Amino acid sequence: MPGDSGRDAEEDVVIIGAGAAGIAAARRLQATRPDLSILLLEAGDRLGGRAWTVGLSGVAGVALDLGCGWLHGARTNAWTAIAGEVGLTVDRTPAPWNGGRQLQRDGVDRHAGQEAIGAYFERLERHEGNDTDLAAMLEPGNSWNGQIRAIGTYITGAELERSSIVDYNRYDPGPGPDWRVREGYGRLVSLYGRPVPARLGTEVTCIDHRHAGRIGIETNRGGLSARAVLLTVSTNVLAAGKIAFDPPLPDKIEAATRLPLGLANKLFLRLANPEALPADTHMLGSLSRCATGTYQLQPFGVPVVEAYFAGDLAHDLERQGSAAAFSFAADELAAQFGADIRRELSVAAMSAWAATPHIGGSYSYAQPGASDLRGLLAAPHDERIFFAGEACSRSRYSTAHGAYETGFAAADLIAGSLTQYP
Ligand SMILES: Cc1cc2nc3c(=O)[nH]c(=O)nc-3n(C[C@H](O)[C@H](O)[C@H](O)COP(=O)(O)OP(=O)(O)OC[C@H]3O[C@@H](n4cnc5c(N)ncnc54)[C@H](O)[C@@H]3O)c2cc1C
Repeated sequence: MPGDSGRDAEEDVVIIGAGAAGIAAARRLQATRPDLSILLLEAGDRLGGRAWTVGLSGVAGVALDLGCGWLHGARTNAWTAIAGEVGLTVDRTPAPWNGGRQLQRDGVDRHAGQEAIGAYFERLERHEGNDTDLAAMLEPGNSWNGQIRAIGTYITGAELERSSIVDYNRYDPGPGPDWRVREGYGRLVSLYGRPVPARLGTEVTCIDHRHAGRIGIETNRGGLSARAVLLTVSTNVLAAGKIAFDPPLPDKIEAATRLPLGLANKLFLRLANPEALPADTHMLGSLSRCATGTYQLQPFGVPVVEAYFAGDLAHDLERQGSAAAFSFAADELAAQFGADIRRELSVAAMSAWAATPHIGGSYSYAQPGASDLRGLLAAPHDERIFFAGEACSRSRYSTAHGAYETGFAAADLIAGSLTQYP
């Protein structure tokens, strides 16, 4: 491995976690401070973290994103430009929520639903005063509450009662529509990480910052030390105490605990006969239930259906496994296209982010009253232990470009904190 000087190595900067934030930080430091030695430690066996693209067996050139898929705020999203730099293709087909093809768009019901949903989100935006949860703005008895709840779970990965209005109102992915990377967002992030010296399969277990000077880093494969450490692990990993700090950092653990990961999972179904479903079209499983999937039919014209489940439904289906998730999705598709559609479908891939080791969920939400803790989580400790990752972003939390920005910013802080010798 380039730059990997073995066990008990002494590095300038150790970055923990090779997701979007860790990779962005490493690349930024490589560009601005070539004088520093940098090592990326990753517990898993690949680069990318929650950015993860897999193929479709037997079909060349198909990219299935099990994690992030949309370049939100695409015109200003750093990954859009990087995609061009590394030779990948940005697909500009409009997203379903931005004028892309949608089933159920034109029914009378659908219009009434759009109005009720629009009114709910306006109430959220107008909310002033003490923070409360997203369910507080529901209109009791409104028949569209089921769909509003479903949309809420897609946004935060959790039921409305759990997450903060203030945090929701701070979300801002930046200007621009939502685009996709044809070869996969996960592939983009991992390709960008390739030039970084990295050790995979290396789980950090303890950060020893008792002494001035170098910080000790214990891993399952031995110890090393660094002048500065950047942690980019998910809030669920931090909150679970998977990495011990000596001395402890209770404020960070408290912040991570109150910014937990919601859950969203994807199930990709292979479609035997592409004529059976429209291409690049979006469908809601149900217009009334909260526990429902959202379906992208043949994204990029590829013969698959991408089903998306979130919140409690995602937890249930993840626990029950891919056969149960298949049966749930097939029922919702059959309700729209007829029972014969089941025969055309089979499981191609499914994520299980809650159970994924070293990650433990999909994207962070703030519990009511906890939105400011994003800033606390992001603040460096003692000018030598730094933090980044999507949960550290005040307005672009839950996204891969938010993660990138926090990594980039942390890299600049680290560069400023380490003396440059002439
Ligand atoms: C289903 C799903 C859909 C999504 N859709 C979108 C989308 O369309 N657009 C978008 O922008 N975002 C989306 N996201 C969110 C996006 O993927 C994440 O916000 C982003 O990838 C998080 O990056 P990160 O670097 O903060 O964290 P991570 O990707 O979690 O990286 C942290 C890394 O740290 C490693 N690690 C953990 N513990 C240790 C340890 N002890 N030692 C060493 N390494 C460790 C982990 O293995 C991991 O690789 C989606 C996520 C999911 C799951």
